Amino acid sequence: MTRAPRQLPCRCGYDLRGRFVGDACPECGWVIDAPGPKWCTADCLHRLARMSTLAWVPCLLLLVVPALFVLGVTASSFSAGGSDRGWLLTFIAFLVLMPLQIVTQAVAVWRMAVPALGEARVRNLRIAMAARLAAFGSAMALIVWDAVSIGARSGGFDGLYIAAYLLVPLVAIGSDFVTLGVLGSLRRESSALVPGWHAVMPPFARWALIGVYPLILVPFFGWFFGPILWTVALSIGFAQVGAVAEVCRKQLP
Ligand SMILES: [Zn+2]
Repeated sequence: MTRAPRQLPCRCGYDLRGRFVGDACPECGWVIDAPGPKWCTADCLHRLARMSTLAWVPCLLLLVVPALFVLGVTASSFSAGGSDRGWLLTFIAFLVLMPLQIVTQAVAVWRMAVPALGEARVRNLRIAMAARLAAFGSAMALIVWDAVSIGARSGGFDGLYIAAYLLVPLVAIGSDFVTLGVLGSLRRESSALVPGWHAVMPPFARWALIGVYPLILVPFFGWFFGPILWTVALSIGFAQVGAVAEVCRKQLP
């Protein structure tokens, strides 16, 4: 029986290339018990890398919205007439980029959840994705429903809006916290030696999400800075998957 070659470094960081399952790490003595995580195959890593890009790029693109908003504020303080176009541009950017981010993240997370990741990871990623879509979807449905029934407004919408105001970000941020937790565990499992930025920032980004929820409820200040922090945290978390996949791919035999 041939022994499987180890495809990844040791947990202590020692390079185990050229060693086999059953060998001990010369640095820390750990006996190699597996070639590497099941998801360390060329196909799977390629998919993780592509889906990482699909997820983090639209997150950063969303920053165009606050950038246009700031430009609009600056422009309107200089000229009274030219500001309308600035606000319209900000609104259009939001209407395009926000759904784009929601859809691309859903697709990316769904496509990342391959069986090789393990049953628990797949389940958690899918539940988080579905909860996130449900939260944003119900918010959108509420706004549309309210808009089309504007003549027959009964006042019952106020309670729904307050509930949506409190619940939509809670569910969406909670599901993102779960998603980044699952994805962060890939780095720990592989012990991939990613560049320092990708090792240190994602855990911070994930815990920063906990602070985003109360922040995003604060009128004006929080409405502006909360989503910025949220989308930056997400892009940091998703980008790490790509970095891990890249490092693991280089170590494949
Ligand atoms: Zn070791």
